[in-house]
Amino acid sequence: MADAGLTTKTLNDKALSDKAWPAALAFFLALGALPTIIFGLLVAFHELALLPGLISWGICLTVALGFGILLGRDMAVMAQLVRSLRMSPDELPKTTNLAVPGMRLLGQEAINLVRAERLNQARASDRSAADHALLERLPDPLLRLNDSGAVIWRNASAIATFGMETAALLRHPDLRAALGEATSSGTPVRQSIALTVPVPRHLDATVIPVGGLAYVLIADRTRERNVEKMRADFIANSSHELRTPLASLIGFIETLRGPAADDVEAQQRFLGIMAEQAHRMQRVIEDLLSLSRIEINEHQPPETVLFLPPLLERIAAGMEPMLQTNHTRIELSIPADLPRIPADADQLAQVFTNLLDNAIKYGKRNGCIKVIAATASTDDRFAANGVLVSVTDDGAGIAREHIPRLTERFYRVDKGRSRSVGGTGLGLAIVKHVVNRHRGRLLIDSVEGQGTTFTVWLPTRP
Ligand code: ADP
Repeated sequence: MADAGLTTKTLNDKALSDKAWPAALAFFLALGALPTIIFGLLVAFHELALLPGLISWGICLTVALGFGILLGRDMAVMAQLVRSLRMSPDELPKTTNLAVPGMRLLGQEAINLVRAERLNQARASDRSAADHALLERLPDPLLRLNDSGAVIWRNASAIATFGMETAALLRHPDLRAALGEATSSGTPVRQSIALTVPVPRHLDATVIPVGGLAYVLIADRTRERNVEKMRADFIANSSHELRTPLASLIGFIETLRGPAADDVEAQQRFLGIMAEQAHRMQRVIEDLLSLSRIEINEHQPPETVLFLPPLLERIAAGMEPMLQTNHTRIELSIPADLPRIPADADQLAQVFTNLLDNAIKYGKRNGCIKVIAATASTDDRFAANGVLVSVTDDGAGIAREHIPRLTERFYRVDKGRSRSVGGTGLGLAIVKHVVNRHRGRLLIDSVEGQGTTFTVWLPTRP
């Protein structure tokens, strides 16, 4: 820093102070030595009488002593001045009281110089603090990388958006390529990046080389891409899934207006089927909409903290009418000291409602559904920093080959069975996307003829 250089290297006040009086003495001796020699020689060679010689010599020594004292004092004042140069511009002395004319000029120049330097420094540090605050508060993630590509700083938005995932982003081959191109060309390079884990993300990264460093400015386009995809998927899925019941409704309406116009018994039967079809269409649309809503924010983990036990108890209690109809019961095993987790309560309610709904729908009549919650350290298939909730039924189970595909939209093992129990084929897709958003895991274990267990692992830290 200029400040340290000026005060400790150029003008070392301690050394100056220590040397002030010895220097003054040396000055006095040097000034006194010449007249001593000259008057000594003049008296020795009888060119000057002893008394006038002694008087002249005494006058010269007095003058030398005076100069020595003045110089010593000025050097001490100068040392004091150097000490005060470490002060802020407001505290700096405005003038000096140095006695020797050259020293006075020098001191004044030093004060002016340091004052100007300090003001420049203060302005520069104000500007740099403002620049830093601006970068820190940028709404888009910004990373500063050193010449070997390691992150040396990131702004608040980068921390919130990527958290621990920054390393995965920096390892991405497209970003590394952009980094190489930008540093070798010295110009900014823009690159689209698609991340697949832990959730799909679409990013636009701009690599800006500055000196030996590189800045990476990231625009997260995930939401826009998800909205585009959602529109396309919604149109494709809804037209596919709704066309059949709609065609059947139109068929019934035509029959009711034509051949069955006077057949009251047929009318009642057809209206019952039509009502069932209309309700199914309504459920499909509701599930598609909630799936779309979840997908839009899937890249942003939830920030609110949730204590799961009351939520699980509330959902189980809400299943009572369905349990009575199916002659099934639920056994809950939920420890009261379950750790809190970052979670979206509404979305997790949807997850456990869907899993319980399936367990009842596909479980055994007069059967028992077990809901067990625990800390993840009880199961070594999962990372210990989380909680586990498993829902186990004693139904017919699922054949091994179907298990990997169960969370796909509209995938059903038995389409007829799913329809007959009011399924939409979207329940497990919703579960999967909510679990993804929570950076959790879903595991399905099933033994045909014995039952199925769906286990959800949710991390205690995002
Ligand atoms: P649906 O609305 O058809 O139930 P889901 O996405 O919830 O759709 O489930 C997809 C398919 O997975 C279901 O159609 C069913 O075949 C199968 N399934 C889901 N849960 C269970 C379960 N507990 N036992 C057996 N099969 C299940």
